[in-house]
Amino acid sequence: MSEVILETKNMKKIYNYRTPNAFEALHGIDFTAEKGEFIAIMGPSGAGKSTFINNISTIDQYTEGSVKIKGTEIRTMSSNEIGTFRFKTLGFIFQDFNLLDTHTLFENIALPLSLADVKKSEIEPRVREMAEKMNISSLLHKFPKECSGGQRQRAAICRALINNPEIIVADEPTGNLDSANSTELMHILQKLNQESGVTIIMVTHDPLITSYTSRLVFIKDGNIERELARGDMSQDDYFQKIVELNAEESRGELKK
Ligand code: ADP
Repeated sequence: MSEVILETKNMKKIYNYRTPNAFEALHGIDFTAEKGEFIAIMGPSGAGKSTFINNISTIDQYTEGSVKIKGTEIRTMSSNEIGTFRFKTLGFIFQDFNLLDTHTLFENIALPLSLADVKKSEIEPRVREMAEKMNISSLLHKFPKECSGGQRQRAAICRALINNPEIIVADEPTGNLDSANSTELMHILQKLNQESGVTIIMVTHDPLITSYTSRLVFIKDGNIERELARGDMSQDDYFQKIVELNAEESRGELKK
């Protein structure tokens, strides 16, 4: 039986609300993610993809409507509750990795556990186990600057996964990676999704990256414009459909 893990109803985001510069970036989004889905968010630049991802994941505060994660309305939570909820339920991966330059990879990966007051004796084995899985065990004493882009992104993934989140939110996670590292990251995410049932919602502009997901949600001008489910399609057929959908949308833009 499918189980809804995240749901928005008429979610609006108005930047600079109640000022002369007010700008409605999302116009009332209805969106549902079921547990275990792997969803790609695509759309033209400025369409509202980052706004969407930030507002469904407690990073930003939507202006109107409702966002429920595991049945709880985000707006009703106190900031303390949101902090705990984030730690327990969500993992974030960003394009620019968001690692702290003044901290070693070990300290960066341990950060969510330190913030949650996990005992020091528990932190070390958990960090080492995660680093082993991502093949960066020998780099834990290094600072982000001393590592390659792929190594930094793997450290960022360790940090996102260290608390065993149920939902991973990723904004252009392959944006700063070469194609080999991008493919490797997709295999890691796909494995997490398929073997551990982690729900993933990821912004990308790359059809090949989207072809690893189970559903595409296309956002345009602050609305969900189209969707495409992979269903029984092979990855190649799904990829072709994703390319076609993007091409149709680009032609539409040109005609404007
Ligand atoms: P995308 O991720 O699809 O490129 P964004 O979600 O970043 O788009 O932006 C959607 C729209 O909201 C754009 O028109 C952008 O200029 C506007 N926007 C984004 N952030 C802000 C902000 N902090 N203040 C005002 N407008 C913003």
